[in-house]
Amino acid sequence: MKILILNAGSSSQKSCLYDISRDVLPDDPPEPIWEGMIDWTHQAGIAEIQVKTVAQEVTKTVPYTDRPPVVEQMLATMWQGETQVLSTPSEIEAVGHRVVHGGRKYHDSIRITSEVKAAIAQLSELAPVHNAANLEGIEAAEAILGEQVLQVAVFDTAFHAQMPDAAAIYPGAYDWIEKGIYRYGFHGTSHQYCAERAASLLGQDLQDLRLITCHLGNGASLAAIRNGRSIDTTMGFTPLDGLMMGTRSGAVDPSILIHLMRHEGYDADKLDHLLNKQAGLLGISGVSNDMRQIMKAIDAGNNRAKLAIDIYIHRLRAYIGSMLASLGGLDGLIFTAGVGENSPLIRAAACEAFAFLGLKLDEEKNAGRPRDQLISTPDSTVKVLVIHTQEDWTIARDCWKLSRLH
Ligand code: ADP
Repeated sequence: MKILILNAGSSSQKSCLYDISRDVLPDDPPEPIWEGMIDWTHQAGIAEIQVKTVAQEVTKTVPYTDRPPVVEQMLATMWQGETQVLSTPSEIEAVGHRVVHGGRKYHDSIRITSEVKAAIAQLSELAPVHNAANLEGIEAAEAILGEQVLQVAVFDTAFHAQMPDAAAIYPGAYDWIEKGIYRYGFHGTSHQYCAERAASLLGQDLQDLRLITCHLGNGASLAAIRNGRSIDTTMGFTPLDGLMMGTRSGAVDPSILIHLMRHEGYDADKLDHLLNKQAGLLGISGVSNDMRQIMKAIDAGNNRAKLAIDIYIHRLRAYIGSMLASLGGLDGLIFTAGVGENSPLIRAAACEAFAFLGLKLDEEKNAGRPRDQLISTPDSTVKVLVIHTQEDWTIARDCWKLSRLH
C-alpha cells in the first residue's frame, strides 16, 4: 500500500512515499521509497526541488511565484523521469498531512472531509502560514488524485489536546478561554512517537510509564507524559513559549514587550520578528541558530556563544524540572530531534542536574552515536534514551490505521 506524506513548513515542503503491507504494520519504521523536498529560501523567485529514491538523487531549480505548481512538479517526479517509482499516481492510496494547528477540537488523526478542511481554515488565524500551506497541500492532492482518495490530517497539537485544564489554561483573563487563548502545545507527533518507541525499546507498557520527551531541534519543546498522554508541555498558545530555541526566545517576561513598545517604538510585527527570528541562540550568540556553529565559536573563544549555551542549558534543566513536578516522578527521559539526537554535551548537561534522583548517564554510550538506544547505566533510577524521531512514519501509520476503517 502506497502512502504519501506531505509536511508543509513556512520555508520548505517535505514529502515522502511509503510502501507498506496492507495487512501488517512493521514494528520498525521502514525507509520511504521516495523523498521530495522544496526549499525556496535560497533565492527570491526560485525554488529548489530535491528528490531522492533508493537509486537516484536529483536536484533542480524551478521558477517560484506560488506554492501549488511547484508542489505539483515535485509530486510528478514520483511517476515521471529518472526518479519514477510509480507507474501512475492512482497507485497512491492515502495521503497524510502534518497539520500544525488542530485547536482543542482534534485529539486524534482524522480523515479529511469538507468539515475538517473548514476547521483547518478557521484555525489559520492561530497558525496563518502553516495551516494555509496545509490546505494548499490537501487541495493539490485532491486535484491530482481525485476527491475520493483517503486524506488524513495529523495535528501537531492533538497529543496535547487533553491536557488537564490547570496546565492548558493561562492565568490571564477568564474570557481568554472563550477566545481560544489556550496552551495548545506543539511537536505532538514527535512526542507521541518517541514515548511509544521508548516503551517498546524498554519492553514496558506505555500506560505504566512517566516520561519526559525532549524534542530539541531548531524549534524545541518538552512534554510530560503519563498513561500514554501528554499532561504538560512547554510550548503554549504558539510555538514561541517555553525553551530557548534556535531563533526563538522561548518564554520571556511579557512586561519586556510592553517596555519595548513604550520606550523603543516596537509594534506587533517588529516584536514578532525579534522574538521568533532574531532571538534565542542566534540572538544571544550573534553567531548562528545552529548548535554546531555555536560549539565551534565556543572552541574559538567566543564568549557570547558560551553565554548562549549556558542559557540554553539553564532553561532546559529548569523546564525538565517543571515537567518532573507535573509528573510527580520519572521513569524515562528521552532526547530527540537535531540537538537531542546529536549533542552528547547538551544531553550530559541536562542530565547532570538530575543526578540527585539517581539518574546516571553511561558516558561512553552518550558519547557514541546512539540511536534508539538506552544511554543510562543499568543502575540508573531513570532510564535515559536517544530516539530518532519519525514524524513522517507516525503520519503514515495513522493513515494505515484509518484506511482499515473504511
Ligand atoms: P527542525 O526540524 O526543527 O528544523 P532539526 O530537528 O533538524 O530541526 O534540528 C536542527 C538543529 O539540530 C540544527 O540547528 C543544529 O543546531 C542541530 N544539530 C544537528 N546536528 C548536530 C550535531 N551534530 N551537534 C549538535 N547539534 C546538531
